[in-house]
Amino acid sequence: VVEMGQPERSVITTCAYCGVGCSFRAEMKGDQLVRMVPDKNGQANHGHSCVKGRFAWGYATHPDRITKPMIRKHINDPWQEVSWEEAVNYAAGEFRRIQLKYGRDSIGGITSSRCTNEETYLVQKLVRAGFGNNNVDTCARVCHSPTGYGLKQTLGESAGTQSFDSVMQADVVLVIGANPTDAHPVFGSQLKRRLREGARLIVIDPRRIDLVDSPHARAELHLALRPGTNVAMLNALAHVIVTEGLVNQPFVDARCEATDFARWRDFVSKPENSPEAMGPICGVSPDDIRAAARLYATGGNAAIYYGLGVTEHSQGSTSVMGIANLAMATGNIGREGVGVNPLRGQNNVQGSCDMGSFPHELPGYRHVSNDAVRHQFEQAWGVTLQPDPGLRIPNMFEAALGGTFKALYCQGEDIAQSDPNTQHVTAALSAMECVVVQDIFLNETAKFAHVFLPGSSFLEKDGTFTNAERRISRVRKVMDPLGGKADWEATQLLANALGYKMDYKHPSQIMDEIASLTPTFTRVSYAELDRHGSLQWPCNDAAPDGTPTMHIEEFVRGKGRFMLTGYVPTDEKVNSRYPLLLTTGRILSQYNVGAQTRRTDNVAWHEEDRLEIHPTDAESRGIREGDWVGVGSRAGQTVLRAKVSERVAPGVVYTTFHFPESGANVITTDNSDWATNCPEYKVTAVEVTRVYQP
Ligand code: SF4
Repeated sequence: VVEMGQPERSVITTCAYCGVGCSFRAEMKGDQLVRMVPDKNGQANHGHSCVKGRFAWGYATHPDRITKPMIRKHINDPWQEVSWEEAVNYAAGEFRRIQLKYGRDSIGGITSSRCTNEETYLVQKLVRAGFGNNNVDTCARVCHSPTGYGLKQTLGESAGTQSFDSVMQADVVLVIGANPTDAHPVFGSQLKRRLREGARLIVIDPRRIDLVDSPHARAELHLALRPGTNVAMLNALAHVIVTEGLVNQPFVDARCEATDFARWRDFVSKPENSPEAMGPICGVSPDDIRAAARLYATGGNAAIYYGLGVTEHSQGSTSVMGIANLAMATGNIGREGVGVNPLRGQNNVQGSCDMGSFPHELPGYRHVSNDAVRHQFEQAWGVTLQPDPGLRIPNMFEAALGGTFKALYCQGEDIAQSDPNTQHVTAALSAMECVVVQDIFLNETAKFAHVFLPGSSFLEKDGTFTNAERRISRVRKVMDPLGGKADWEATQLLANALGYKMDYKHPSQIMDEIASLTPTFTRVSYAELDRHGSLQWPCNDAAPDGTPTMHIEEFVRGKGRFMLTGYVPTDEKVNSRYPLLLTTGRILSQYNVGAQTRRTDNVAWHEEDRLEIHPTDAESRGIREGDWVGVGSRAGQTVLRAKVSERVAPGVVYTTFHFPESGANVITTDNSDWATNCPEYKVTAVEVTRVYQP
């Protein structure tokens, strides 16, 4: 890849970083990519882009790319380059040997929210039809699985309700547990445009994120709650709305289950949910909570945007349901300018969940225990499917440590770096007899692998991604896979080696199969995507042009369902040994664990993972700006450079997680969401000590 010269042709494709899903023109000279230019016709980005999508694609041909399949019998042996056939035959032989010895359920697979819809669909199909179990999970487990659960329970569909453009009709925007400026920059800019036009902003976040003080777009209210108290805050907001007569009763009467609403109303009205009771728990003044509730309920069209600061908690699913409750109670759902909008971290989190990557759900969020649905898939796939949910990722680790889970096919997720409590993850991987990693780089997880299959970057394949607004966009191949096969081809090869026949000639055939089996996708095809530019699901006979806004006349589940959201404090408590609460987030130039962005010119931004600490906490520990500090938790310890900052409140520290050296997940614990096992990355009790001054 070069970054100079005049292009001869261009190919429209989709950014492979965040859930905004910006459309780009990949400009080519011969078979070389010259530059990426944001596409003016892009329906998610309208010609805008950020530094990641525009400049951070050089990783695609970085010398670290692994282009040859490799195997080794033991993880201490050197890798041996082999042919694709030899690698997949070895992996398939091991999978079958292990199943014969330890049982059908002793193996499983992990799909990637970085890969295309077609690729994640094939991996879950391989597991369900080829392995014969439901032990498939996705990296969305560790980010937005509570969104899937919480929105399904309340609204009936595991997806955001609006288009990004809908924000331009909002009068009030409530951002909770999200930092769009850094994590979803193109949407962040669009939001700021709307705020400059006069929309009013409430930010609920432990940290003073950029939006709080942004010129011409500053927040009217910043509720800097203590990490781990989202549910307390949402209940206090609901209490004000109910007790001050701010419920949109006609909407609730017409659209929601009456019994559930009455139960919820009685619950949130209790004094223990009042701002006066919850404010001290959250560390926020009751007056500010009351002001925020009144503004959200009475300020006109009010939209909620949330991110991992909501989901990655032991009560992540409860918070998502609490957010949906607020939207239903005030009638802020089912039209433009309002809604419940999860900001998805990875490019295809929405899509990987849509495609049946969870162990309990077939594509289209249909439970594996549903006989009619399962029989439909059994007919199409020519196998008998299991009716019981399989193992989630954390259950796979536990089973591995317990000796009953022995082999894993992991596509495009670096679980050894991105999952919490690294020591626990690596012990589980070490206990397995066959780990197959499919990735573009020899990542941390590959240190525990016996088979490595070269992955393909988004530039090397056809397919689709689905962004945070349910928008399905085409990914178009601009160069041949460096390893010789796109990820979907590798999965197909493995399936065939296992004896389960797959014979797709092109990803469009996989999409046709998805459409034939998934009611929300029945009118999706590559031809229709080319014709429309992109399509937002549901896209079927009832909505042939797609669905920008959901739940307009009725909720997908029929009547909206208010769920009780009792506040349960996290187990992660501060004490004299661990007196500070650590929370985490992202920086603009880097992406997730940095596997891609660290291999691009973005490193020239010289950003690093730092520990933000309030001046009073720094002073009491003798810590100055730039000092190296030890950060210790109940799970482990790491060393970071300190950044003394008033962005965090006293008692709270903050870091990002883009560089493996920072070891952020060495210190995060095993606590997880009660409903989905999404890890509680956002709350860790720590102590910080000065190590040395440079
Ligand atoms: Fe890519 Fe997200 Fe940036 Fe758009 S906002 S260019 S999708 S990283």
